[in-house]
Amino acid sequence: MKNFNVKNITIAGINYKITYTKSQARDRGELGAVCGNSSEINIDESLDTERQKKTLIHEIIEAFNFEYELNLEHKQISILETAFFTVLKDNQELFSKIIGDK
Ligand SMILES: [Zn+2]
Repeated sequence: MKNFNVKNITIAGINYKITYTKSQARDRGELGAVCGNSSEINIDESLDTERQKKTLIHEIIEAFNFEYELNLEHKQISILETAFFTVLKDNQELFSKIIGDK
């Protein structure tokens, strides 16, 4: 599976580098990882594209948790991952209006 080729994201005003690793889920039991200290997000590129995108949302919330010191539990992060991914997918037109130029 090919990664969806997003290499940078700005979170809380900080530029996070996005890297891709093969078989991370199988070898380390995690679909992705985030490091607030090195401002880096890693995603398993062996996952299908949809799951890679969902994992990115998860790691963004993990980064919020770090940057804003939210002290969220991992279960809460996983629920927010699904909630955000679903609301973004179900309302693509609305979000493009919110964040678009027009
Ligand atoms: Zn996590």
